[in-house]
Amino acid sequence: MPATHHVERQPSRVHVTEVGPRDGLQNESVILSTAEKLELIHALVAAGVNAFEITSFVSPKAVPALADAVDLVTALRGLDGVHLSALVPNHRGAERALEAGIDAVVMFVSASETHNAKNVNRSVEDSLAGFEDAARVLEGSGVELRGAVATSFGCPFEGDIEVASVGRIARHFSELGVRHLSLGDTTGMATPPLVSERIRHLREVAPPIVPTLHFHNTRGIGLANVMQGLALGVDRYESSIGGLGGCPFAPGASGNIASEDLVYLLDEMSIDTGIDLAGMIGAAQIATRLMGRDLPGQVSKAGPRLALSDCSAVPTARG
Ligand code: ZN
Repeated sequence: MPATHHVERQPSRVHVTEVGPRDGLQNESVILSTAEKLELIHALVAAGVNAFEITSFVSPKAVPALADAVDLVTALRGLDGVHLSALVPNHRGAERALEAGIDAVVMFVSASETHNAKNVNRSVEDSLAGFEDAARVLEGSGVELRGAVATSFGCPFEGDIEVASVGRIARHFSELGVRHLSLGDTTGMATPPLVSERIRHLREVAPPIVPTLHFHNTRGIGLANVMQGLALGVDRYESSIGGLGGCPFAPGASGNIASEDLVYLLDEMSIDTGIDLAGMIGAAQIATRLMGRDLPGQVSKAGPRLALSDCSAVPTARG
């Protein structure tokens, strides 16, 4: 199909995947129990969230925060209409995820050689080759194989990442039958021009791929990048409740864009998400309590713009 097939027009409906339980919690120092995670996830489901990147089937020793992967998926798989995906590093992880009853398996690779080596101790080429084994594990299971590309917009070690590197990985995933590919902005290096460049390139070199944008707010322009994605017609985004998470290379930096801030923006643009903002604000407050720290999401603190204050109760606002 020609690249012109993709219309660069604001979508009327956007699909939001909540990645807080995986990407958020993986980068937090506080480790939540399975029961605490379930409290948060049930609040999100009640708010209308129907897609989660729920955990990662990596070594429990490598990521203690996600050591309860099997228990968590087992506890959630009966939820009606809720789609659960999980990261897996290799075919062994794919087997465990399949056994636990996941809906989609996400294979990940970094677009940066240095980051991929640090992350999974392999070359990008070796990671890509390993996906074929994982794809075979899933054959005939009905479980979807998805892809994720870390450092799609820049690498904290290498700097700029060639758009062609992202395109080459996308093509490889596409040949494996992957349709949903997430472009991860692992350390918040995305900018609106980079978003345009990468999305247009992807549509040219791997037209069957439906891109998902995954921004971190490390440098404060996560939602500006979402605006750019929307202008390009991208209708799938990933975010974490409260903006859970951080950046392993920048202590104190923000994590993913906050889900409730994303839903607020989309609501105000009359873009349907099926998610209730008030419910998301409640879930962000639960996340804040469970983590025992102030989270970066903002709408949960200020309230929606028409949540009016009692003017007699507050001092005059200046400026
Ligand atoms: Zn991320």
